[in-house]
Amino acid sequence: MVLVEGETRVAIVSADFLGFPALLGNKARAQVKGIPAQNILIGATHTHSAPDCYGFPDEKGASTADLKYLDSICTKMAEAINEAASKLQPAVLKIATDEAKGKIAYNYYAEQLYDPRCHVIQAIGSDGKPIATVVNYAIHPEVIGNRQGILSPDLIGPLRERLHERGGGFGIFMNSAQGGMVTADNRSPNGKDIGTWAECQRIGTLLADEALRIVEKAPVQKEPKLFCAARNVSFPVDSPLLRNVMKASPLGYPTNDPRHVSTQLNVINIGNGQILTIPGEALPNIGYYLKRKMHGQNNLLFGLTNDAFGYILTKVDWGSFKRYNYITRTCLGEMTGEILIEEGLKFVDACPRPEKLP
Ligand SMILES: [Zn+2]
Repeated sequence: MVLVEGETRVAIVSADFLGFPALLGNKARAQVKGIPAQNILIGATHTHSAPDCYGFPDEKGASTADLKYLDSICTKMAEAINEAASKLQPAVLKIATDEAKGKIAYNYYAEQLYDPRCHVIQAIGSDGKPIATVVNYAIHPEVIGNRQGILSPDLIGPLRERLHERGGGFGIFMNSAQGGMVTADNRSPNGKDIGTWAECQRIGTLLADEALRIVEKAPVQKEPKLFCAARNVSFPVDSPLLRNVMKASPLGYPTNDPRHVSTQLNVINIGNGQILTIPGEALPNIGYYLKRKMHGQNNLLFGLTNDAFGYILTKVDWGSFKRYNYITRTCLGEMTGEILIEEGLKFVDACPRPEKLP
């Protein structure tokens, strides 16, 4: 989706991958005309049944990334952005936040510790019909998972289809703070996970219906202001595992300073909404805190956007519960969450405030 107001142009891209490293995103950005590279937000849906974009090597050093395929994805992504930018039309917005009800997500580590809020941005054309509906919600689309040998957008596919079918226009899904371990609620009564396409359809359809219900009564914002800023943030890489995989990946991660990675955060003000991007999978407690401190009447977090740095834990959570061993190992370091919170909120505070509706 491309948004334009005055001189400000912003692109929001959702890609059906586990994660989409900045190194690839920048190849797509370089092929886009008329939108500043730093105003192009690229998020991964986090489907667990898509081709590998990380190029992380296994224990034997082999990687499953197909570099030619990945290059073609960057080109197609740029084409999609250019096409959207060539089809601009006047629009008004509806933005809303509410709990999505029903059996959609839960926290696999601690059932109720997740954020059920679903944020929706809908662009409506001058004929009164929605052009696009952006759904922002924290969930692991891993119903199909990576062990069935099936290539799939998981529940995000049916979500988009349902939005379109019900007149929501193009469906665009942006993940949120879904780390450790907010996942799809595909538990059957006997406790086993249901790993079928029918289950993807059930959850995707339900989330789409909830999103449309949530946005329906929202007030129309006739001339919403648009603001976009970008800032680079550096994170120490304490994890020897992550240092080694980045070094050995055929994607060619920058190696001049293996102990730090730097990436882009974005703040977008859109009408009475504010968006902050997260370059990985923040845990839901971080998500709650960031949303609480942001300045919109609707506060959205776009997770796994602009980069894909694994789990993001607070220093208090890092290396704590046995349950957190895995997410601690795949977190850049003890301070990742603290840096994200501090730098993210400093950035948000330095930006103008979004509009307020009465
Ligand atoms: Zn994940």
